[in-house]
Amino acid sequence: MIDGKKRKEEKRIKDEDLFKVVDSTIDSRTYLSLIQIARRLNIKEYYGAISSGKEAKIYPALTRDGKWYAVKIYYVSTAASKRALEKYTLGDPRFKDVKIKTTFQLIEIWARKEYKNLARLSEAGVSAPKPIYVFRNILVMEFIGEEGVRAPLLKEVPEEAITEELYNAIITEVEKMVNLAHLVHGDLSEYNIMVWDNRPYIIDVSQSVDIEHPNALELLQRDLENINRFFEGHGVNVEPVEDILGRLEI
Ligand code: ADP
Ligand code: MN
Repeated sequence: MIDGKKRKEEKRIKDEDLFKVVDSTIDSRTYLSLIQIARRLNIKEYYGAISSGKEAKIYPALTRDGKWYAVKIYYVSTAASKRALEKYTLGDPRFKDVKIKTTFQLIEIWARKEYKNLARLSEAGVSAPKPIYVFRNILVMEFIGEEGVRAPLLKEVPEEAITEELYNAIITEVEKMVNLAHLVHGDLSEYNIMVWDNRPYIIDVSQSVDIEHPNALELLQRDLENINRFFEGHGVNVEPVEDILGRLEI
């Protein structure tokens, strides 16, 4: 009896050790999921959030064999995100049989959708974090950066690194995304591209849609306009959106 109780107590302390920083925003269900994921992926520690968007938070995690992951936790969230989610999943042939019930199920679909989109990007050789695992409202992916310190976003890159080469590299990734992965990002901007070793990484693809989606072309046009606006603002010669679209099979 006493031994059993002691073991339980020790296990509880071990679970608490998993979290380098106590995070009051993690609800108990998510907390239990994180413990299960840690066992499954051999994670030794979760570190403090490196971002806190409206719908998700990202935590670095370190495995016992020294690998870093980015752990994205989706919130059970607002009416606004529920509407956004429905807009993107309705009309997507891959989700036509999904019957949406609770907000929690919605958010789990959101996480799975990002996982699947990352898998498609990875298979097509697009520069993006490799998906590792998805469980309930939590996505685990490759960490972009080093030692738990994330790479800068395009928005944060120093002026001298905002070059025509980087612009071309990003347009090449968008081309591969459309022509090979058959996906349109849908929220592409200087906030959803990371730059590491002069190489762009496309992130935040939970809302990305198949090129067959009714809004795909419109979304793609907006994505390209965002990229062109950013680089033009930094004095880089950009290619007209119409010309880029001409090379895209959409
Ligand atoms: P959202 O914008 O919905 O909050 P993102 O997927 O854009 O979610 O992630 C939020 C932030 O977390 C990003 O701006 C970036 O700074 C960081 N981040 C996202 N993915 C990774 C990753 N794979 N590796 C390292 N940092 C990441
Ligand atoms: Mn983002």
